[in-house]
Amino acid sequence: MNRRFVCSRATAVQSKVFTLIELLVVIAIIAILASMLLPALNQARDRTRAIACINNLKSISMGGALYSDANNGFFFTQVKADGSASAETRYQTLVLPYMGRDTVMGDREKAEFLWCAKDPNLAAGQKSRLTLFDEGRISYGYNCRHLPGKKNSMARMPTTTILLIEACNEASGLRGGHYQANSWALPDGAAIMRHGLQGNAVWLDGHVSAVKARTVASNAMYEKGVLYNKFFDDNRWTLDNKKE
Ligand SMILES: [Zn+2]
Repeated sequence: MNRRFVCSRATAVQSKVFTLIELLVVIAIIAILASMLLPALNQARDRTRAIACINNLKSISMGGALYSDANNGFFFTQVKADGSASAETRYQTLVLPYMGRDTVMGDREKAEFLWCAKDPNLAAGQKSRLTLFDEGRISYGYNCRHLPGKKNSMARMPTTTILLIEACNEASGLRGGHYQANSWALPDGAAIMRHGLQGNAVWLDGHVSAVKARTVASNAMYEKGVLYNKFFDDNRWTLDNKKE
């Protein structure tokens, strides 16, 4: 009686122990499932980053509208009265007080809305946000080609004129951010795709949308049918300060 009991107990214990092969099979199954899930997780993370980027542009645009209201309707000037420019005259400094932020040096890096999570300038080991801010290496370029010296009331095509767009500086070798969108050519101030073949933009009427390029070419954002007309058409304004 006792012997039978011992035998059946040993069999039960033995059946509960995994063999090495069984363990390897389980690990292999988990690895296969993880590899199937990973692309979906990456896609979800990228979507989250693109949405955060859009929210950044919306926030800055609201700050820009308040800046214009307080400055007789003018967009950011980008330059001093004598025509010179510095970090103090760039839009990223001018907008801070209208977004509840301090402009003092130490606080500039806290303006997290100036950077897209996919801007390579933010990659580990790069410069601090404070340095990036003062060098103008923020993720969104201001439309310096069209806006300085203009008022919103002068805009004839507010829905198709860019206020800010993701822009880059390639001189850093990273295609990191740049505070101006003023050129079709790299390395400086070109609109850039950070979300697949898309770059986010906020337009003068305040709506945000993704500009879609067709290829990964460095000047693809300025091809005809993408930004070409919107960027090179200078006839976007009334000649005086009145609406037509
Ligand atoms: Zn972005």
